[in-house]
Amino acid sequence: MKIVERVIPGYERVVWGQDSAAGYHGVVVVHSTALGPAVGGTRYWHYASDDEALTDALRLARGMTSKNALAGLPWGGGKSVIVRSRADDVPINREALFRAHGKLIEVLGGNYITAEDVGTSPADMEYVLMETRHVAGLKNRSGDPSPHTARGVFRAMQAAARYRWGNDDLAGKTVAIQGCGHVGYHLARELYQADAKLIISDVDRQRLDRVARDFRARAVTVDDIYSVEADIFAPCALGGILNDQTIPRIGAQLIVGGANNQLLEPRHGQQLDQRGLLYAPDYAANAGGVIHGYSIEVLGWDPKRTRERIDNTIYETLSRIFRMAHDEGISPSQAADRMVEALLSGPEAKMGSHAASIE
Ligand code: NAD
Repeated sequence: MKIVERVIPGYERVVWGQDSAAGYHGVVVVHSTALGPAVGGTRYWHYASDDEALTDALRLARGMTSKNALAGLPWGGGKSVIVRSRADDVPINREALFRAHGKLIEVLGGNYITAEDVGTSPADMEYVLMETRHVAGLKNRSGDPSPHTARGVFRAMQAAARYRWGNDDLAGKTVAIQGCGHVGYHLARELYQADAKLIISDVDRQRLDRVARDFRARAVTVDDIYSVEADIFAPCALGGILNDQTIPRIGAQLIVGGANNQLLEPRHGQQLDQRGLLYAPDYAANAGGVIHGYSIEVLGWDPKRTRERIDNTIYETLSRIFRMAHDEGISPSQAADRMVEALLSGPEAKMGSHAASIE
């Protein structure tokens, strides 16, 4: 394995690995271990260039620091990306690929712990485990995180509804969901059970039809989902979708979804605020999956206690963010960033560093 370390200001470690025999080319990014070892999944995806893969990993790693900190977990933030060949006819040996990834993770000596993410599965993590013990999200452990992520997004919606309308009952409210994948499907189920009305979009016809059928949702085009008349817009597909083009078109008052990195740039958080739209910062709203994984795999909690933790933590964190934004005259995204900064320089941070160094 050829290993190349790069120094990037603001990040603790950025390490590329190349193992041509295994068809492996990947990068591990450790953004921060201030609160504990950096935890974040492995993404296996097509990228136009190494720079694009690195940019994705850097943004996602930073997001994990914020997500873990606000969720109250003793973890820092990191992420890794394995660059997927664009040629479809190249056979993939997943064992060789993910064992190579495990070797790279082992080089970081416990400062980074991985798990599954987009394009990877618990079975892939079993291969990683053959080379390093610094891996979670294994088979027969905490399982698919998406129902728990969706539950957390639902609770974030309730917190936003209470803050904006004085009542967290979502019955009769209309929610426009962008993306009917893992998180979008389970979010639609939660909302249907709460008697909300649903409008949905997806590029994948089968996924769209399934949610429309199971939860009596009305399907619209991928372009119309922004401007439909709704109370809440729930981005559950891609990052960067809150931007100069889409923000003026949004028809809902609240924006609460599961997608990572929804703001194209930080300034778009302020732009939403200026338009009078209440935005629930994504890394606070979509932490249900990591809270679930931690409570089950590390603390050994039962599902009922874990569910209560997701319900309480996410509702309370979002409520605090909205109050702080109001009191300090800033946007919720700025308030959430300030809360994260305070946690990273607070007393837990010192304990976290110690824990990381003895790991
Ligand atoms: P997924 O791949 O299962 O679902 C994404 C869905 O979005 C797919 O059905 C896809 O067809 C659809 N989509 C793609 N482009 C679209 C477009 N332009 N318009 C409408 N739909 C489009 O992924 P997921 O696990 O549901 O995750 C969704 C988002 O939530 C991602 O940003 C992910 O990083 C984030 N997230 C997921 C979890 C989790 O537990 N799965 C946790 C935290 C954050």
